[in-house]
Amino acid sequence: MNSVCNRTSVETLEIVKLGGEILRQKAVPVTVFGQRLEETVARMIEALDKAQGVGLAAPQVGIGERFFVVQIKGEVPIVFVNPSIIETSPETVACEEGCLSLPGSYADVVRPSAVKVQAFDTKGRPFTLECAGLLARVVQHENDHLDGILFYDHLSELKQKRLLEKYEKIAKHKPGRKHR
Ligand SMILES: [Zn+2]
Repeated sequence: MNSVCNRTSVETLEIVKLGGEILRQKAVPVTVFGQRLEETVARMIEALDKAQGVGLAAPQVGIGERFFVVQIKGEVPIVFVNPSIIETSPETVACEEGCLSLPGSYADVVRPSAVKVQAFDTKGRPFTLECAGLLARVVQHENDHLDGILFYDHLSELKQKRLLEKYEKIAKHKPGRKHR
């Protein structure tokens, strides 16, 4: 699962965990819209449901392309293809974040409290969305994934070190453990 996922051999999408190189690579823009993308997105939403997460970016399932899905409980999933954050609020807010690629690790991350995003849907139709609250948080976290950035990169060096040490411990003792 290095570039585009192979549908013939993959039943459920596997989430790439910390250490997977693709998590640190810059994803490339999507150029082919339509059915293939829609199918991949549908499977990502399935994987997201299964993992009980709120957002999943393509690199996290081994696809080095610029798109992600956000599904906030009780709301319809939103797909952002080739997104760009065009405005950020001057106000910032600290909020606890976790990541499906680092199960069991959480930390307070400071980010702008609202953002305005330009993106395309799976059919290639452009849209602009003003995001606040949890949506703004998830969009920024997932958008970071497209540039190979992980949430703990926003922490101080000391906090990063602590988080990674703790993560290593959890990952070691984890066979079959549920993380949320
Ligand atoms: Zn993440």
